[in-house]
Amino acid sequence: MTSRGQMALDLPGIDDGPDLASYRWILANISGGKDSMAMLDELVRQADAAGVLRDRIVCVHADLGRAEWEGTRELAAEHAAAYGLRFEVVARTGFDLVDRIAERGMFPDASNRWCTSDFKRNPVLRLMTALVREAEKTGHLGRVRILNVMGLRADESPARRKLRAFSHDGALTCPCQDCLLRRAALESAERRGVPCPKHRKPGHGASNTLRHVDTWHPVHSWSTADVWAAVARSGLRPHPAYADGMPRLSCSFCVLASRPALVRAAQLRPGLAAEYAAIEEKTGHRFKCDLSMAEIIAEAEASPAVTAITNWQG
Ligand code: SF4
Repeated sequence: MTSRGQMALDLPGIDDGPDLASYRWILANISGGKDSMAMLDELVRQADAAGVLRDRIVCVHADLGRAEWEGTRELAAEHAAAYGLRFEVVARTGFDLVDRIAERGMFPDASNRWCTSDFKRNPVLRLMTALVREAEKTGHLGRVRILNVMGLRADESPARRKLRAFSHDGALTCPCQDCLLRRAALESAERRGVPCPKHRKPGHGASNTLRHVDTWHPVHSWSTADVWAAVARSGLRPHPAYADGMPRLSCSFCVLASRPALVRAAQLRPGLAAEYAAIEEKTGHRFKCDLSMAEIIAEAEASPAVTAITNWQG
């Protein structure tokens, strides 16, 4: 999940990483995939070194329903349990992702990723609200500091390459100094009738008057080899979809995935592929504008099983 309100903190030494002990909650977003596993291992290592009690770390898994590979939710729970960490599952209220696609009559796409906002970001924001209340009930005074930790990596896509490893998830209602300055810059630009540069605008992020939220990607600069080495060191169990050839453990049929990855997924999950194809037929909306699920299925049926898909991005 990419933070919409993400903004760089242009402070000396900020890229060294966050002061873990300064947060009331550290929220580890775990998908069950390899990047999450490496992130979790690195986070726990650094938190232990900083003397942070593990009861401040909460693992959260955004459950997308049957769009995910079988056993993903249980595997994420297993990963959290391996470190003795609290585990929470969040989900969109109502339909799962596949049913929601059918209800909307259209698939998400790269420029309209409502799947991520509706099924990952917004449910995680609701958990943040609950954690703020929980902190207040235990006597916490003032804004609650939350560190939102994710396993996004620069190597994964050009968009992720542009992310800062550590940033403030600022917003219009955030009263921190950085957001106040941005709001002043925006108001000044509006008064003068000139555009405010994007990098100086306030964000639309998770912070507000009750919580200060920062975002951290501890494995942002890591290579795929680094990630697998950390997974091996951790002793955690990877999802079997990797051994079946999948390069990533996202939705089985992700709208951002490459054609070879989608074909392999259709070989592994023909039933779900057929469901997507039925949605296409009913709605007249293709899975991707240049590739239908019907074409993916036809290629999957005509191709031998591929055991190692290396490229993810389609
Ligand atoms: S994995 Fe792909 S399809 Fe699934 S929620 Fe993320 S972007 Fe959307």
